[in-house]
Amino acid sequence: MTTPLQHTVKIYNTLNGELQTFQPIKAPFVGMYVCGPTVYSDVHLGNCRTFISFDLVYRYLSHLGYKVRYVRNITDAGHLENDADEGEDKISKKARLESLEPMEIVQKYTTGFHDVMRLFNAHPPSIEPTATGHIVEQIEMIQQIIDNGLAYIVNGSVYFDVTKYNASGDYGMLSGRKIDELISGTRDLDGQSEKRSPLDFALWKKASPSHIMRWNSPWSVGFPGWHLECSVMSTKYLGQQFDIHGGGMDLKFPHHECEIAQNKAAHGHHGVNYWMHANMLTLNGKRMSKSTGNTLLPGELFSGDNAVLSKAFSPSVVRFFMLQAHYRSVLDFSNDALLAAEKGYNRLMEALDRLKTLEATVTESSWSVTDWQHKCYAAMNEDFNSPILIAHLFDAVRFINAVADGTAGIAPQDLSTLQTAMPAFVFDVLGLEIQQGETQSQHLEQTLALLIRIRNHARADKNWALSDQIRDELASAGVILKDGKDGTTYTLKS
Ligand code: AMP
Ligand code: ZN
Repeated sequence: MTTPLQHTVKIYNTLNGELQTFQPIKAPFVGMYVCGPTVYSDVHLGNCRTFISFDLVYRYLSHLGYKVRYVRNITDAGHLENDADEGEDKISKKARLESLEPMEIVQKYTTGFHDVMRLFNAHPPSIEPTATGHIVEQIEMIQQIIDNGLAYIVNGSVYFDVTKYNASGDYGMLSGRKIDELISGTRDLDGQSEKRSPLDFALWKKASPSHIMRWNSPWSVGFPGWHLECSVMSTKYLGQQFDIHGGGMDLKFPHHECEIAQNKAAHGHHGVNYWMHANMLTLNGKRMSKSTGNTLLPGELFSGDNAVLSKAFSPSVVRFFMLQAHYRSVLDFSNDALLAAEKGYNRLMEALDRLKTLEATVTESSWSVTDWQHKCYAAMNEDFNSPILIAHLFDAVRFINAVADGTAGIAPQDLSTLQTAMPAFVFDVLGLEIQQGETQSQHLEQTLALLIRIRNHARADKNWALSDQIRDELASAGVILKDGKDGTTYTLKS
Protein backbone atom coordinates (compact mmCIF):
# COMPACT_ATOMS: atom_id res chain seq x y z
CA MET A 1 0.00 0.00 0.00
CA THR A 2 1.27 3.45 -0.91
CA THR A 3 0.33 6.75 0.66
CA PRO A 4 -1.43 9.56 -1.18
CA LEU A 5 1.46 11.91 -0.51
CA GLN A 6 3.71 9.78 -2.72
CA HIS A 7 1.50 10.32 -5.76
CA THR A 8 0.29 13.35 -7.67
CA VAL A 9 -2.96 12.52 -9.38
CA LYS A 10 -4.14 14.68 -12.25
CA ILE A 11 -7.80 14.93 -13.14
CA TYR A 12 -9.31 16.29 -16.33
CA ASN A 13 -11.72 18.88 -14.97
CA THR A 14 -14.67 19.47 -17.30
CA LEU A 15 -15.19 22.83 -15.63
CA ASN A 16 -12.17 24.38 -17.39
CA GLY A 17 -11.12 21.64 -19.83
CA GLU A 18 -7.75 21.24 -18.12
CA LEU A 19 -5.80 18.42 -16.61
CA GLN A 20 -5.39 19.62 -13.03
CA THR A 21 -3.44 18.38 -10.05
CA PHE A 22 -5.90 16.85 -7.63
CA GLN A 23 -5.87 18.64 -4.29
CA PRO A 24 -8.59 17.40 -1.97
CA ILE A 25 -10.08 20.00 0.37
CA LYS A 26 -9.11 17.96 3.41
CA ALA A 27 -6.66 15.17 2.47
CA PRO A 28 -6.60 12.27 3.07
CA PHE A 29 -10.40 12.61 2.95
CA VAL A 30 -12.09 12.83 -0.44
CA GLY A 31 -15.77 13.52 -1.16
CA MET A 32 -17.09 12.11 -4.42
CA TYR A 33 -20.67 12.31 -5.69
CA VAL A 34 -21.86 10.41 -8.78
CA CYS A 35 -25.33 10.69 -10.33
CA GLY A 36 -26.94 7.28 -10.00
CA PRO A 37 -29.63 5.58 -12.09
CA THR A 38 -33.29 6.46 -12.47
CA VAL A 39 -34.78 3.18 -11.34
CA TYR A 40 -37.67 2.72 -13.76
CA SER A 41 -36.09 0.05 -15.97
CA ASP A 42 -33.15 -2.37 -16.13
CA VAL A 43 -29.77 -0.64 -16.37
CA HIS A 44 -28.17 -1.17 -19.78
CA LEU A 45 -24.47 -1.63 -20.50
CA GLY A 46 -24.05 2.08 -21.24
CA ASN A 47 -25.18 2.96 -17.71
CA CYS A 48 -22.87 0.23 -16.39
CA ARG A 49 -19.88 1.74 -18.20
CA THR A 50 -20.32 5.05 -16.41
CA PHE A 51 -20.59 3.37 -13.01
CA ILE A 52 -17.58 1.13 -13.74
CA SER A 53 -15.59 4.25 -14.75
CA PHE A 54 -16.29 5.83 -11.37
CA ASP A 55 -15.66 2.55 -9.58
CA LEU A 56 -12.15 2.74 -11.08
CA VAL A 57 -11.72 6.27 -9.71
CA TYR A 58 -12.98 5.17 -6.29
CA ARG A 59 -10.74 2.09 -6.26
CA TYR A 60 -7.62 3.94 -7.36
CA LEU A 61 -7.98 6.81 -4.89
CA SER A 62 -8.67 4.28 -2.12
CA HIS A 63 -5.65 2.23 -3.24
CA LEU A 64 -3.48 5.33 -2.86
CA GLY A 65 -4.67 5.65 0.71
CA TYR A 66 -7.35 8.35 0.37
CA LYS A 67 -10.39 7.92 2.58
CA VAL A 68 -13.11 8.36 0.01
CA ARG A 69 -16.73 9.02 0.91
CA TYR A 70 -18.49 7.95 -2.26
CA VAL A 71 -22.11 9.08 -2.56
CA ARG A 72 -24.19 7.77 -5.46
CA ASN A 73 -27.89 8.54 -5.47
CA ILE A 74 -30.92 6.60 -6.60
CA THR A 75 -33.40 8.73 -8.54
CA ASP A 76 -36.77 7.42 -7.45
CA ALA A 77 -38.93 10.51 -8.06
CA GLY A 78 -39.00 13.74 -10.03
CA HIS A 79 -37.36 12.56 -13.28
CA LEU A 80 -39.95 13.34 -15.93
CA GLU A 81 -40.18 11.94 -19.45
CA ASN A 82 -37.68 13.45 -21.92
CA ASP A 83 -35.71 14.87 -18.99
CA ALA A 84 -37.90 18.00 -19.26
CA ASP A 85 -40.28 19.77 -16.91
CA GLU A 86 -43.38 18.42 -18.60
CA GLY A 87 -44.85 14.97 -18.99
CA GLU A 88 -45.20 12.03 -16.69
CA ASP A 89 -42.76 10.91 -13.99
CA LYS A 90 -40.76 7.99 -15.47
CA ILE A 91 -41.39 5.84 -12.40
CA SER A 92 -45.08 6.57 -12.02
CA LYS A 93 -45.62 5.95 -15.73
CA LYS A 94 -44.04 2.51 -15.43
CA ALA A 95 -46.09 1.82 -12.29
CA ARG A 96 -49.28 2.78 -14.13
CA LEU A 97 -48.44 0.60 -17.14
CA GLU A 98 -47.63 -2.43 -14.97
CA SER A 99 -50.38 -1.80 -12.37
CA LEU A 100 -47.83 -1.68 -9.58
CA GLU A 101 -47.06 0.72 -6.75
CA PRO A 102 -44.30 3.20 -7.76
CA MET A 103 -42.24 1.89 -4.84
CA GLU A 104 -42.51 -1.66 -6.23
CA ILE A 105 -40.95 -0.38 -9.46
CA VAL A 106 -38.24 1.41 -7.48
CA GLN A 107 -37.51 -1.69 -5.38
CA LYS A 108 -37.39 -4.04 -8.37
CA TYR A 109 -34.98 -1.97 -10.45
CA THR A 110 -32.83 -0.87 -7.51
CA THR A 111 -32.32 -4.53 -6.58
CA GLY A 112 -31.58 -5.35 -10.23
CA PHE A 113 -29.05 -2.51 -10.41
CA HIS A 114 -27.28 -3.71 -7.26
CA ASP A 115 -27.15 -7.29 -8.60
CA VAL A 116 -25.55 -6.10 -11.85
CA MET A 117 -23.04 -3.89 -10.03
CA ARG A 118 -22.08 -6.86 -7.84
CA LEU A 119 -21.56 -9.05 -10.93
CA PHE A 120 -19.29 -6.36 -12.37
CA ASN A 121 -17.42 -6.28 -9.06
CA ALA A 122 -18.15 -2.57 -8.57
CA HIS A 123 -17.87 -1.52 -4.93
CA PRO A 124 -21.08 -0.22 -3.38
CA PRO A 125 -20.96 3.49 -2.58
CA SER A 126 -20.46 4.65 1.02
CA ILE A 127 -23.92 6.26 0.98
CA GLU A 128 -26.73 5.64 -1.51
CA PRO A 129 -29.40 8.25 -0.79
CA THR A 130 -32.76 8.44 -2.55
CA ALA A 131 -34.71 11.46 -3.77
CA THR A 132 -37.86 10.37 -1.91
CA GLY A 133 -35.85 10.07 1.31
CA HIS A 134 -34.83 13.75 1.06
CA ILE A 135 -38.05 15.63 0.31
CA VAL A 136 -37.74 17.73 3.48
CA GLU A 137 -34.20 18.83 2.58
CA GLN A 138 -35.28 19.58 -1.00
CA ILE A 139 -38.09 21.82 0.25
CA GLU A 140 -35.58 23.63 2.49
CA MET A 141 -33.21 24.27 -0.42
CA ILE A 142 -36.02 25.59 -2.62
CA GLN A 143 -37.00 27.97 0.18
CA GLN A 144 -33.40 29.20 0.40
CA ILE A 145 -33.32 29.88 -3.35
CA ILE A 146 -36.67 31.73 -3.15
CA ASP A 147 -35.39 33.75 -0.17
CA ASN A 148 -32.29 34.67 -2.18
CA GLY A 149 -34.56 36.00 -4.94
CA LEU A 150 -33.58 33.48 -7.60
CA ALA A 151 -36.79 31.46 -7.90
CA TYR A 152 -40.45 32.40 -8.37
CA ILE A 153 -43.76 30.74 -7.57
CA VAL A 154 -46.54 30.29 -10.14
CA ASN A 155 -49.75 28.37 -9.42
CA GLY A 156 -48.11 26.20 -6.75
CA SER A 157 -45.00 25.40 -8.82
CA VAL A 158 -41.57 26.94 -8.21
CA TYR A 159 -39.17 27.76 -11.07
CA PHE A 160 -35.52 28.72 -11.05
CA ASP A 161 -34.99 32.15 -12.60
CA VAL A 162 -32.11 31.50 -15.02
CA THR A 163 -32.08 35.04 -16.45
CA LYS A 164 -31.72 36.64 -13.02
CA TYR A 165 -29.13 34.09 -11.92
CA ASN A 166 -27.14 34.70 -15.07
CA ALA A 167 -26.55 38.35 -14.18
CA SER A 168 -23.23 36.96 -12.91
CA GLY A 169 -22.68 35.20 -16.28
CA ASP A 170 -22.37 31.83 -14.59
CA TYR A 171 -25.03 29.88 -16.45
CA GLY A 172 -23.18 27.75 -19.01
CA MET A 173 -19.88 27.69 -17.08
CA LEU A 174 -19.73 23.87 -17.18
CA SER A 175 -21.24 23.06 -20.55
CA GLY A 176 -19.93 26.12 -22.40
CA ARG A 177 -23.46 26.93 -23.60
CA LYS A 178 -24.26 30.57 -24.20
CA ILE A 179 -27.55 31.79 -22.84
CA ASP A 180 -28.48 33.77 -26.00
CA GLU A 181 -27.89 30.76 -28.23
CA LEU A 182 -29.85 28.56 -25.86
CA ILE A 183 -32.80 30.92 -25.95
CA SER A 184 -32.78 31.18 -29.74
CA GLY A 185 -32.71 27.37 -29.91
CA THR A 186 -35.91 26.98 -27.87
CA ARG A 187 -39.47 27.45 -28.99
CA ASP A 188 -41.24 30.59 -27.79
CA LEU A 189 -43.35 30.08 -24.72
CA ASP A 190 -46.83 29.44 -26.01
CA GLY A 191 -48.65 31.46 -23.39
CA GLN A 192 -49.67 28.25 -21.67
CA SER A 193 -46.33 27.93 -19.92
CA GLU A 194 -45.91 29.15 -16.38
CA LYS A 195 -42.24 29.89 -16.94
CA ARG A 196 -40.93 33.41 -17.47
CA SER A 197 -38.21 32.10 -19.79
CA PRO A 198 -37.89 28.76 -21.61
CA LEU A 199 -34.54 28.19 -19.87
CA ASP A 200 -36.06 28.34 -16.39
CA PHE A 201 -36.41 24.93 -14.78
CA ALA A 202 -38.70 23.47 -12.15
CA LEU A 203 -37.60 23.20 -8.54
CA TRP A 204 -41.07 22.11 -7.44
CA LYS A 205 -44.03 21.06 -9.57
CA LYS A 206 -47.63 21.11 -8.46
CA ALA A 207 -49.02 17.62 -9.05
CA SER A 208 -51.84 17.15 -11.50
CA PRO A 209 -54.71 14.97 -10.22
CA SER A 210 -53.28 11.94 -12.10
CA HIS A 211 -49.77 12.35 -10.68
CA ILE A 212 -49.48 9.70 -7.97
CA MET A 213 -46.07 10.57 -6.47
CA ARG A 214 -46.80 13.71 -4.43
CA TRP A 215 -45.82 15.40 -1.18
CA ASN A 216 -46.98 18.40 0.87
CA SER A 217 -44.99 21.59 0.55
CA PRO A 218 -45.50 25.30 1.36
CA TRP A 219 -46.41 25.87 -2.32
CA SER A 220 -48.63 22.92 -3.27
CA VAL A 221 -49.02 19.17 -3.07
CA GLY A 222 -46.44 18.22 -5.64
CA PHE A 223 -42.98 16.82 -6.29
CA PRO A 224 -39.40 18.08 -6.64
CA GLY A 225 -37.68 18.86 -9.94
CA TRP A 226 -35.10 16.31 -11.12
CA HIS A 227 -31.97 18.50 -10.82
CA LEU A 228 -32.63 19.44 -7.23
CA GLU A 229 -32.02 16.08 -5.54
CA CYS A 230 -28.35 15.95 -6.53
CA SER A 231 -27.60 19.45 -5.18
CA VAL A 232 -29.39 18.57 -1.97
CA MET A 233 -27.90 15.13 -1.34
CA SER A 234 -24.34 16.07 -2.30
CA THR A 235 -24.50 19.06 0.07
CA LYS A 236 -26.01 17.01 2.87
CA TYR A 237 -23.40 14.25 2.79
CA LEU A 238 -20.30 16.00 1.40
CA GLY A 239 -20.73 19.66 2.36
CA GLN A 240 -21.43 22.83 0.40
CA GLN A 241 -18.03 22.58 -1.29
CA PHE A 242 -16.64 19.14 -2.09
CA ASP A 243 -14.01 17.45 -4.23
CA ILE A 244 -15.35 15.39 -7.15
CA HIS A 245 -18.70 15.21 -8.95
CA GLY A 246 -19.17 12.66 -11.71
CA GLY A 247 -21.70 11.37 -14.18
CA GLY A 248 -22.09 10.52 -17.85
CA MET A 249 -21.33 13.18 -20.50
CA ASP A 250 -25.01 13.45 -21.35
CA LEU A 251 -25.69 14.87 -17.87
CA LYS A 252 -23.39 17.86 -18.35
CA PHE A 253 -26.29 19.87 -19.70
CA PRO A 254 -28.81 20.63 -18.40
CA HIS A 255 -28.56 18.45 -15.27
CA HIS A 256 -25.13 19.43 -13.96
CA GLU A 257 -25.36 23.02 -15.20
CA CYS A 258 -28.58 23.34 -13.19
CA GLU A 259 -26.95 21.74 -10.15
CA ILE A 260 -24.24 24.40 -10.19
CA ALA A 261 -26.87 27.13 -10.53
CA GLN A 262 -28.88 25.74 -7.60
CA ASN A 263 -25.80 25.45 -5.39
CA LYS A 264 -24.70 29.00 -6.12
CA ALA A 265 -28.23 30.36 -5.70
CA ALA A 266 -28.66 28.63 -2.33
CA HIS A 267 -25.17 28.80 -0.81
CA GLY A 268 -23.28 31.43 -2.75
CA HIS A 269 -20.71 29.09 -4.31
CA HIS A 270 -20.63 26.48 -7.04
CA GLY A 271 -20.16 23.43 -4.86
CA VAL A 272 -17.73 21.22 -6.79
CA ASN A 273 -13.97 21.47 -7.36
CA TYR A 274 -13.51 18.76 -10.01
CA TRP A 275 -16.24 17.81 -12.46
CA MET A 276 -15.61 14.47 -14.20
CA HIS A 277 -17.65 13.16 -17.13
CA ALA A 278 -17.51 9.63 -18.47
CA ASN A 279 -17.97 9.12 -22.18
CA MET A 280 -20.64 7.04 -23.84
CA LEU A 281 -20.82 3.39 -24.76
CA THR A 282 -22.11 3.02 -28.29
CA LEU A 283 -23.65 0.08 -30.10
CA ASN A 284 -23.36 0.05 -33.90
CA GLY A 285 -21.85 3.52 -33.64
CA LYS A 286 -24.89 4.99 -31.87
CA ARG A 287 -25.19 5.87 -28.22
CA MET A 288 -26.68 3.09 -26.14
CA SER A 289 -29.90 4.56 -24.88
CA LYS A 290 -33.08 3.30 -23.34
CA SER A 291 -35.24 5.77 -25.23
CA THR A 292 -34.06 4.71 -28.71
CA GLY A 293 -34.06 1.00 -27.87
CA ASN A 294 -30.39 0.75 -28.96
CA THR A 295 -29.41 -1.20 -25.85
CA LEU A 296 -27.91 -4.41 -24.62
CA LEU A 297 -28.70 -5.53 -21.10
CA PRO A 298 -26.04 -7.10 -18.90
CA GLY A 299 -28.14 -10.27 -18.49
CA GLU A 300 -28.38 -10.72 -22.27
CA LEU A 301 -24.62 -10.49 -22.49
CA PHE A 302 -23.78 -12.94 -19.70
CA SER A 303 -26.28 -15.51 -21.01
CA GLY A 304 -25.36 -15.08 -24.68
CA ASP A 305 -29.06 -14.56 -25.42
CA ASN A 306 -28.85 -11.59 -27.81
CA ALA A 307 -28.63 -10.79 -31.51
CA VAL A 308 -25.34 -8.88 -31.34
CA LEU A 309 -22.77 -11.34 -29.97
CA SER A 310 -21.69 -14.82 -31.03
CA LYS A 311 -21.37 -16.17 -27.48
CA ALA A 312 -21.77 -15.36 -23.80
CA PHE A 313 -19.14 -13.26 -22.04
CA SER A 314 -18.36 -13.18 -18.34
CA PRO A 315 -18.82 -9.93 -16.37
CA SER A 316 -15.09 -9.72 -15.70
CA VAL A 317 -14.28 -9.92 -19.43
CA VAL A 318 -16.82 -7.16 -20.11
CA ARG A 319 -15.34 -5.04 -17.33
CA PHE A 320 -11.86 -5.63 -18.79
CA PHE A 321 -13.17 -4.66 -22.24
CA MET A 322 -14.55 -1.39 -20.84
CA LEU A 323 -11.34 -0.54 -18.97
CA GLN A 324 -9.29 -1.04 -22.13
CA ALA A 325 -10.68 2.34 -23.20
CA HIS A 326 -10.04 5.57 -21.28
CA TYR A 327 -13.15 6.75 -19.47
CA ARG A 328 -13.24 9.96 -21.55
CA SER A 329 -13.20 8.12 -24.92
CA VAL A 330 -16.25 6.82 -26.72
CA LEU A 331 -16.27 3.02 -26.72
CA ASP A 332 -18.10 0.94 -29.30
CA PHE A 333 -19.45 -2.43 -28.39
CA SER A 334 -18.93 -5.25 -30.87
CA ASN A 335 -18.48 -9.00 -31.06
CA ASP A 336 -14.90 -8.77 -32.38
CA ALA A 337 -13.85 -6.29 -29.70
CA LEU A 338 -15.23 -8.54 -26.98
CA LEU A 339 -13.58 -11.66 -28.41
CA ALA A 340 -10.25 -9.83 -28.47
CA ALA A 341 -10.82 -8.61 -24.90
CA GLU A 342 -11.55 -12.15 -23.75
CA LYS A 343 -8.28 -13.39 -25.23
CA GLY A 344 -6.34 -10.62 -23.52
CA TYR A 345 -8.13 -11.16 -20.23
CA ASN A 346 -7.32 -14.91 -20.29
CA ARG A 347 -3.65 -14.20 -21.03
CA LEU A 348 -3.53 -11.80 -18.14
CA MET A 349 -5.16 -14.24 -15.72
CA GLU A 350 -2.90 -17.09 -16.85
CA ALA A 351 0.18 -14.97 -16.26
CA LEU A 352 -1.08 -14.00 -12.79
CA ASP A 353 -1.43 -17.63 -11.99
CA ARG A 354 2.04 -18.42 -13.28
CA LEU A 355 3.42 -15.57 -11.21
CA LYS A 356 2.39 -17.35 -7.98
CA THR A 357 4.75 -20.26 -8.61
CA LEU A 358 7.55 -18.32 -10.29
CA GLU A 359 11.00 -18.80 -8.81
CA ALA A 360 13.81 -16.26 -8.48
CA THR A 361 16.71 -17.63 -10.47
CA VAL A 362 19.18 -14.76 -10.76
CA THR A 363 20.60 -11.93 -8.66
CA GLU A 364 19.82 -9.23 -11.22
CA SER A 365 16.59 -9.28 -13.26
CA SER A 366 16.80 -9.00 -17.03
CA TRP A 367 13.93 -6.43 -16.98
CA SER A 368 13.33 -3.54 -14.57
CA VAL A 369 10.37 -4.27 -12.34
CA THR A 370 10.84 -0.96 -10.50
CA ASP A 371 10.59 1.06 -13.73
CA TRP A 372 7.54 -0.93 -14.69
CA GLN A 373 5.83 -0.21 -11.37
CA HIS A 374 6.52 3.54 -11.76
CA LYS A 375 5.03 3.48 -15.24
CA CYS A 376 1.88 1.75 -13.99
CA TYR A 377 1.35 4.43 -11.34
CA ALA A 378 2.19 7.19 -13.82
CA ALA A 379 -0.57 5.91 -16.13
CA MET A 380 -3.19 5.92 -13.41
CA ASN A 381 -1.98 9.25 -12.01
CA GLU A 382 -2.63 10.82 -15.40
CA ASP A 383 -6.42 11.02 -15.22
CA PHE A 384 -6.96 7.32 -14.42
CA ASN A 385 -5.58 6.06 -17.73
CA SER A 386 -6.53 2.39 -17.50
CA PRO A 387 -5.68 1.48 -21.15
CA ILE A 388 -2.08 2.57 -20.63
CA LEU A 389 -1.96 0.70 -17.32
CA ILE A 390 -3.23 -2.41 -19.12
CA ALA A 391 -0.55 -2.03 -21.82
CA HIS A 392 2.09 -1.99 -19.04
CA LEU A 393 0.49 -5.04 -17.43
CA PHE A 394 0.98 -6.91 -20.70
CA ASP A 395 4.68 -5.99 -20.68
CA ALA A 396 4.79 -7.73 -17.31
CA VAL A 397 2.88 -10.70 -18.76
CA ARG A 398 5.58 -11.15 -21.42
CA PHE A 399 8.28 -11.01 -18.75
CA ILE A 400 6.47 -13.47 -16.47
CA ASN A 401 6.06 -15.91 -19.37
CA ALA A 402 9.71 -15.57 -20.28
CA VAL A 403 10.80 -16.23 -16.68
CA ALA A 404 8.40 -19.19 -16.51
CA ASP A 405 9.90 -20.87 -19.54
CA GLY A 406 13.46 -20.06 -18.49
CA THR A 407 14.33 -17.49 -21.18
CA ALA A 408 14.52 -14.60 -18.69
CA GLY A 409 15.56 -14.33 -15.06
CA ILE A 410 14.10 -12.50 -12.06
CA ALA A 411 15.84 -11.53 -8.81
CA PRO A 412 14.18 -12.30 -5.43
CA GLN A 413 13.36 -8.66 -4.54
CA ASP A 414 11.80 -8.04 -7.97
CA LEU A 415 9.81 -11.24 -7.76
CA SER A 416 8.37 -10.14 -4.45
CA THR A 417 7.51 -6.66 -5.89
CA LEU A 418 5.87 -8.20 -8.94
CA GLN A 419 3.94 -10.71 -6.85
CA THR A 420 2.46 -7.82 -4.82
CA ALA A 421 2.05 -5.14 -7.48
CA MET A 422 0.54 -7.23 -10.27
CA PRO A 423 -2.48 -8.52 -8.27
CA ALA A 424 -2.87 -5.06 -6.69
CA PHE A 425 -3.27 -3.42 -10.12
CA VAL A 426 -5.38 -6.22 -11.61
CA PHE A 427 -7.68 -7.05 -8.71
CA ASP A 428 -7.71 -4.00 -6.41
CA VAL A 429 -7.39 -1.15 -8.90
CA LEU A 430 -8.96 -2.51 -12.09
CA GLY A 431 -11.38 -4.64 -10.07
CA LEU A 432 -11.03 -7.70 -12.31
CA GLU A 433 -11.88 -11.08 -10.86
CA ILE A 434 -11.11 -14.67 -11.57
CA GLN A 435 -14.49 -15.96 -12.68
CA GLN A 436 -15.93 -19.10 -11.14
CA GLY A 437 -15.16 -22.16 -13.23
CA GLU A 438 -11.76 -20.82 -14.14
CA THR A 439 -10.06 -22.46 -11.16
CA GLN A 440 -9.93 -25.91 -12.71
CA SER A 441 -8.42 -24.65 -15.92
CA GLN A 442 -5.91 -22.71 -13.84
CA HIS A 443 -4.74 -25.90 -12.13
CA LEU A 444 -4.26 -27.47 -15.56
CA GLU A 445 -2.53 -24.31 -16.73
CA GLN A 446 -0.10 -24.46 -13.81
CA THR A 447 0.64 -28.14 -14.48
CA LEU A 448 1.34 -27.39 -18.14
CA ALA A 449 3.57 -24.46 -17.17
CA LEU A 450 5.53 -26.82 -14.93
CA LEU A 451 5.96 -29.37 -17.73
CA ILE A 452 7.10 -26.63 -20.11
CA ARG A 453 9.63 -25.43 -17.54
CA ILE A 454 11.01 -28.97 -17.03
CA ARG A 455 11.24 -29.41 -20.80
CA ASN A 456 13.09 -26.11 -21.21
CA HIS A 457 15.58 -27.15 -18.52
CA ALA A 458 16.01 -30.47 -20.33
CA ARG A 459 16.65 -28.63 -23.60
CA ALA A 460 19.17 -26.35 -21.90
CA ASP A 461 20.94 -29.53 -20.63
CA LYS A 462 20.72 -31.00 -24.15
CA ASN A 463 18.61 -33.82 -22.72
CA TRP A 464 16.75 -34.26 -26.02
CA ALA A 465 15.25 -37.61 -25.01
CA LEU A 466 13.37 -36.03 -22.09
CA SER A 467 12.36 -32.86 -23.94
CA ASP A 468 11.02 -34.88 -26.92
CA GLN A 469 9.18 -37.26 -24.60
CA ILE A 470 7.39 -34.35 -22.89
CA ARG A 471 6.49 -32.77 -26.25
CA ASP A 472 5.26 -36.05 -27.80
CA GLU A 473 3.26 -37.25 -24.81
CA LEU A 474 1.60 -33.85 -24.43
CA ALA A 475 0.80 -33.94 -28.17
CA SER A 476 -0.87 -37.32 -27.84
CA ALA A 477 -2.90 -35.84 -24.95
CA GLY A 478 -4.00 -33.06 -27.33
CA VAL A 479 -1.62 -30.32 -26.12
CA ILE A 480 0.56 -29.03 -28.95
CA LEU A 481 3.70 -27.15 -27.89
CA LYS A 482 5.17 -24.44 -30.07
CA ASP A 483 8.60 -22.92 -29.52
CA GLY A 484 8.69 -19.29 -30.65
CA LYS A 485 10.53 -16.05 -29.96
CA ASP A 486 8.23 -15.27 -27.00
CA GLY A 487 9.03 -18.66 -25.43
CA THR A 488 7.02 -21.86 -25.52
CA THR A 489 3.28 -21.58 -25.98
CA TYR A 490 0.66 -24.27 -26.49
CA THR A 491 -2.63 -24.85 -28.24
CA LEU A 492 -5.27 -27.43 -27.44
CA LYS A 493 -6.34 -29.80 -30.22
CA SER A 494 -10.12 -29.63 -30.42
P1 AMP B 1 -30.03 7.40 -16.14
O1 AMP B 1 -30.56 6.23 -15.37
O2 AMP B 1 -30.60 7.54 -17.51
O3 AMP B 1 -30.12 8.69 -15.34
O4 AMP B 1 -28.46 7.12 -16.40
C1 AMP B 1 -27.57 6.71 -15.39
C2 AMP B 1 -26.15 7.03 -15.81
O5 AMP B 1 -25.78 6.32 -17.00
C3 AMP B 1 -25.92 8.52 -16.12
O6 AMP B 1 -24.69 8.93 -15.54
C4 AMP B 1 -25.82 8.55 -17.64
O7 AMP B 1 -25.00 9.62 -18.08
C5 AMP B 1 -25.17 7.22 -17.92
N1 AMP B 1 -25.40 6.73 -19.30
C6 AMP B 1 -26.56 6.67 -20.00
N2 AMP B 1 -26.37 6.17 -21.24
C7 AMP B 1 -25.04 5.90 -21.35
C8 AMP B 1 -24.20 5.35 -22.39
N3 AMP B 1 -24.68 4.96 -23.56
N4 AMP B 1 -22.87 5.20 -22.11
C9 AMP B 1 -22.35 5.58 -20.91
N5 AMP B 1 -23.09 6.09 -19.90
C10 AMP B 1 -24.42 6.25 -20.10
ZN1 ZN C 1 -27.59 13.97 -10.66
